[in-house]
Amino acid sequence: MAIRLVFIIMFALSCVFLIRKYKAMRSQKTRNITEPKILACADCGVYVPESDAVRRHGRVYCSSMHAENHEV
Ligand SMILES: [Zn+2]
Repeated sequence: MAIRLVFIIMFALSCVFLIRKYKAMRSQKTRNITEPKILACADCGVYVPESDAVRRHGRVYCSSMHAENHEV
């Protein structure tokens, strides 16, 4: 009887552990997707995702138009 109780408790604990691990993995994955690196435009200060940013002369701009404003 006592052995069965211990077995049930161990089973319940392993279930909780697995669920926690699964949730942590899932939240970590979604965090990476929903939070891209955000950079500020050197011209207007608007924040743009790194993938949409225009890089010129070591600076970051929100669009090619703003990059051209700083071309001399
Ligand atoms: Zn801009």
